[in-house]
Amino acid sequence: MEKIIMIKYGELTTKKDNRNFFIRTLENNIINSIKEYNPKIRKDYFRMFIIINAEYLNIVIEKLKNIFGIHEIAECYYEKDKSFETICELCTKIIKSNNSFKVITNRSDKNYPIKSMDLSKQVGGYLLKNIKNLTVDVHDPNIEVNIEIRKEGVYVYSAGIKGSGGYPTGTLGKALLMLSGGIDSVVAGYLTMKRGVKIDFIYFESLPHTSLEAREKVISLAKILKEYGNNGKLYIIPFTKIQETIYKDMSPEYMITMMRRMMYRIAEKVAKKYKSNVIINGESIGQVASQTLTSINVVNEVTNYPIIRPLSSFDKLEIIEIAKKIGSYEISILPYEDCCTIFVPTHPVINPNLEFAKKQEENFDFALLDEAVNNILILDLKNEVEQNDYL
Ligand code: ATP
Ligand code: MG
Repeated sequence: MEKIIMIKYGELTTKKDNRNFFIRTLENNIINSIKEYNPKIRKDYFRMFIIINAEYLNIVIEKLKNIFGIHEIAECYYEKDKSFETICELCTKIIKSNNSFKVITNRSDKNYPIKSMDLSKQVGGYLLKNIKNLTVDVHDPNIEVNIEIRKEGVYVYSAGIKGSGGYPTGTLGKALLMLSGGIDSVVAGYLTMKRGVKIDFIYFESLPHTSLEAREKVISLAKILKEYGNNGKLYIIPFTKIQETIYKDMSPEYMITMMRRMMYRIAEKVAKKYKSNVIINGESIGQVASQTLTSINVVNEVTNYPIIRPLSSFDKLEIIEIAKKIGSYEISILPYEDCCTIFVPTHPVINPNLEFAKKQEENFDFALLDEAVNNILILDLKNEVEQNDYL
């Protein structure tokens, strides 16, 4: 038997001129996520219908809950025949053991002879007469019986499940996420995706000071966002020489400041080269010494590229809550460090001085940054390529 799932679009309905593009992208994202279940899809400006084999219904609904651009998901009964009798039959099935109800009709087929309000009343009357112990409650019913009369037929459903909202991923450009193995950055990526942005990732690694397990952990975190419809690329930057040079030549308490100035510079180069509109990261004001406003100011000074910090005003506990919800938390707390402890000073500067930071860089060989970008390793997360293939 086949089941029909009705999708109500999220905020994209406010984007008049772009609506087709938004809906097409949403359809592609849905197909990518559930193609193994052979869905058939019908869509128009207001609704999308997914026809699926009944045995896959629950799993498909679970997947749809993760896709941005969906406001509501509802399992429907559908019949081509729009006669009053058929509608009443479908509504009777929906009522099940509920004892109070209200009927809401939406009639996009304006040729249908009965007006919405009248149909709601007539169907309500039929249900009251034919089902025992049932009452109408327009304010707080047990169940809402929704009837949608459309050109191709009639759909009947009760209140749906809340979708993820936001815009379909890929409709609003691409961002480069600075992805570490920690808790924050992947959450920053998830929140940005919700606004329709596709995510590519940049990870700075310092082999052999950092481990391959740390890299694998970052790959797993990037793949978490795949579950939500993202299939960007992961750019791995060999950062060892730069980090060692900073360690050798620069003031220990400025090590993180200087390291981050280099990371931002490289992120800008990669964002430009691989066409990301903005850079995003998981910084949150005051979380650590390198994220005080003074630090952010001194680090950000190296670039004019837009840097978005979706978590800037989040508490750590709020971030953890989202990390648990999206399934990244358990990976993030695995013990592999992505920044070797020898590079972490005991007393990092809390209020760095910009002039001093610039002075530290006077003898720095900036060619190292281009060298790092030239030796970039690119993983395409679309194809499940094993990490070892790249070693
Ligand atoms: P997270 O912030 O993700 O929990 P973290 O706490 O180890 O990881 P911070 O030191 O707070 O990272 O760094 C702030 C942000 O800088 C991170 O959220 C991430 O966006 C970026 N970042 C840090 N280390 C790296 C790295 N090795 N590669 C790419 N980005 C990084
Ligand atoms: Mg952090």
